[in-house]
Amino acid sequence: MIISFDIDNTLIPYSDEFPVEKRSFRGKMLGAEPIRKGTIQLFKELEGQGHELWIYTTSFRTKLNIKRTFWAYGLSPTRIINETINLNLLKQHQCKASKIPKLFGIDLHIDDSEGVGIEGERYGFRTIIIPPNDRDWVQKIMSNI
Ligand SMILES: [Mg+2]
Repeated sequence: MIISFDIDNTLIPYSDEFPVEKRSFRGKMLGAEPIRKGTIQLFKELEGQGHELWIYTTSFRTKLNIKRTFWAYGLSPTRIINETINLNLLKQHQCKASKIPKLFGIDLHIDDSEGVGIEGERYGFRTIIIPPNDRDWVQKIMSNI
């Protein structure tokens, strides 16, 4: 499956919503952002099961910036969709939703936003919604895949 992850408040906190992975010295030098504790384990397990992992965000961070953050933790998401790319495709489809993962060929999208969950029901795409305060988020995703 192609599985995509939201960034803000799903994998990267706005402030201190959830514990984060240790950032290496190199990571700090690269300007990597802190990522949610459990992300490294989760990505390795999902990739080990043969899934392809993408990032799908409505943030305007550049693709390179996003890649650099994940590289700093030894992770390489296959594809990065930022808001520039997202808006382009949604506009072509004259779609007013914030995200439509299935337009990109994504099978499952993971996000913190209840609104994205509702869009999933309305537009027919599969989501797992993870609140920022969910300490068992890795387990929740693994058991829902
Ligand atoms: Mg979010």
